[in-house]
Amino acid sequence: MIRKVTLILACFCCFQMQAQTTNKMSNKARIVIHGGAGTILKKNLTPEREAAYHAKLKEALVAGKETLDKGEKAEIAVVECIKVMENSPLFNAGKGAVFTHEETIEMDASIMEGSKLNAGAACSISRIKNPITLALAIMNKSHHVMLSGKGADDFGKSQNLEIVDNDYFKDSIRYRQLKKVQEMEEAILDHDGDQGAAVDSSETEFNITLGEDKKFGTVGAVVRDNNDHLAAGTSTGGMTNKRFGRVGDSPLIGAGTYANDSTCAISCTGHGEFFIRHAVAYNVHSRMYLKGETLNEAGDYVINKELVKVDGMGGLIGIDNEGNFVMPFNTKGMFRAVLYEDGRIETMMYGEE
Ligand code: ASP
Repeated sequence: MIRKVTLILACFCCFQMQAQTTNKMSNKARIVIHGGAGTILKKNLTPEREAAYHAKLKEALVAGKETLDKGEKAEIAVVECIKVMENSPLFNAGKGAVFTHEETIEMDASIMEGSKLNAGAACSISRIKNPITLALAIMNKSHHVMLSGKGADDFGKSQNLEIVDNDYFKDSIRYRQLKKVQEMEEAILDHDGDQGAAVDSSETEFNITLGEDKKFGTVGAVVRDNNDHLAAGTSTGGMTNKRFGRVGDSPLIGAGTYANDSTCAISCTGHGEFFIRHAVAYNVHSRMYLKGETLNEAGDYVINKELVKVDGMGGLIGIDNEGNFVMPFNTKGMFRAVLYEDGRIETMMYGEE
């Protein structure tokens, strides 16, 4: 009898312990995403628009989670998260990407997986509906790392990726943004004035779009899959009013994107020229690899010390092979969200969160 009671008690305690372990909140992440950094201030976003950003970031993470739940690899989850954001005009990638000086849309994207260091990237593309799917196809189905322009679009077509007319990507808010930037340039030339004075502040939503997206509206994802394998991806329309075939950091492996299973996966957003010069994504990896820094130390150093010193504005998201993650930025805000190991989702955009 005593033995029976002891057994029942032991089982009960065991059940309690298990329940406690299951209920314990994990601070380790599976997926981290960003939707660009910049002048993102609460006072400039309507509650509706704020809610739309939260909802879209959540939708992107859910798409990634469902992919991981099926047992897919990290790089596939990266693609599924990014596709959701590319399909939304809220972000500067895919539909709603920023305009070039010539009033066209030219997009860049890249992806890297951390086990064999395979990577794929495309720049200055204008016909592939989801640029991140082209980056994946280049990684998995070609012998190359990077393709550009018409050739890249043609390769996507040969891989049966969805092709659309360039007009599909065009959004009226982005067009007005281009016109404002072009007027502002003239104003600066005409009067040699300061940029702030030339910006029309009468339209709140427009201004936040201008503020955040003039430079930094890129989207990105970093993922640690069920086998602790890492991948990173980034997709962008680049910078408003860009010309002469300008390409930023986003499609450059080592600058805007990097992944290595032994250290971290990184995706950046910000003023691309600085991110290229400081090889930001690889910089974080190498500080961890060679100096033994943690992801937190390395990410913080590069964004908040090295880039700040040279006025390089932007941020990054990073995850390591244990699920530690970082989201540093030196701008007012950054659209960002985390899927934790236990399934919780957190979405954020302002600096103080
Ligand atoms: N880094 C991108 C570029 O320079 C812009 C962005 O992050 O929004 O093209």
